[in-house]
Amino acid sequence: MWRILIYIAVVAIAHGVMPARALSQGSFLDTLQPSPEDVEDVGRIIEETRREAEQKEEEERNRKNEALKKEKQKYTFGNVPETLFENKVNKFKFSIDPNFSKKEEELFLNMFHRVYRILPRFVFYRNARDLIDAEYIDPNEIVPDISTSEMFKKYFSAAFGPLGMVSILEYIHNNMRIILKKKKNKNVIATNVGMTLWQNKVSGFPNESTYKFGNTTYRIGSPTRGGVVSLNPLFFEITEENVFNAITTLVHEARHSQCTGGLPNILVKWFRSEIGGEDPPSRKCGHSHIKCPPGHDLAGIYACDYEPWGAYGLEAFLSYILLRSECDWEQCDDNQFAANVSDLMSRILKPDHSPYHYIKELRFLKLPMPDMSHTERIVP
Ligand SMILES: [Zn+2]
Repeated sequence: MWRILIYIAVVAIAHGVMPARALSQGSFLDTLQPSPEDVEDVGRIIEETRREAEQKEEEERNRKNEALKKEKQKYTFGNVPETLFENKVNKFKFSIDPNFSKKEEELFLNMFHRVYRILPRFVFYRNARDLIDAEYIDPNEIVPDISTSEMFKKYFSAAFGPLGMVSILEYIHNNMRIILKKKKNKNVIATNVGMTLWQNKVSGFPNESTYKFGNTTYRIGSPTRGGVVSLNPLFFEITEENVFNAITTLVHEARHSQCTGGLPNILVKWFRSEIGGEDPPSRKCGHSHIKCPPGHDLAGIYACDYEPWGAYGLEAFLSYILLRSECDWEQCDDNQFAANVSDLMSRILKPDHSPYHYIKELRFLKLPMPDMSHTERIVP
């Protein structure tokens, strides 16, 4: 608008409507009365200017859209064909505790479809120095651009498989199949029950191969394909509120189903109470948490990890990807993701109890590759 006003003033001077010399010729007010031709001229010029400006704006818009389209093509993270959804996600099968309400069951099953429809693939903001980076990384440091980084894509493929949302959903499905309803402990969102049951069974104590929840008897199977996860009412509140938070929670629980490197003999002895100790002597089989150290916000609670790719690390990595992905949907709340990522990253420690500075190592592509192997053998 101000541009048009200036333009009118300039035009008016050029047409002698408001000439400086008028001050010395007769009354100033007289000279302010424009002739009908002048009025017509000004009107026409304003109209032309407006049209030109609109045209320019339109061109600029088109140019930007075109550039954005190219950028998206370039930085799209994985290009998953629709058929993958039909072939894979649609065929997911879970055994769902009959104690869940119909609504809860539907929320759980629809979650996979919802997430896939919103964000089948990831499109990174190219130069985003977002809320999280700003907290941890010096603005003068040159950070590798993850949208183009092969290394970042390698982290993703090593953790989940082919690039795209479907791999994340498959990872969940591959590591849990039995979903139980849990009413107790309202502050916990989800618990991986299957891994502990399986470790107990393999250790031969208690010598049982079935367990009962409610009226249903389950056989203790593989901790992955037969993985058992219990969900608390809070999980369903989260699913309704932000479906991506529910998915990152399940990725966390899925990681607990993986026995990386096999079940160490020392852990078997611990399960059999042949050796003492409050905490399990080994963590990689099941990726169980350690107590957060004194001084930590969660000091004394089993809510920290030493491994960068444990349950918290994997959840943080996925949340970070979601945070940096282009997503117009209301379920993609940047601030909420940022808060989540910040919290998750604060739980990843180095063995000397100092925070891992996970984000820095991740952004500078210095994190080691994740070991996502799973072995159901007892190892020395
Ligand atoms: Zn956990």
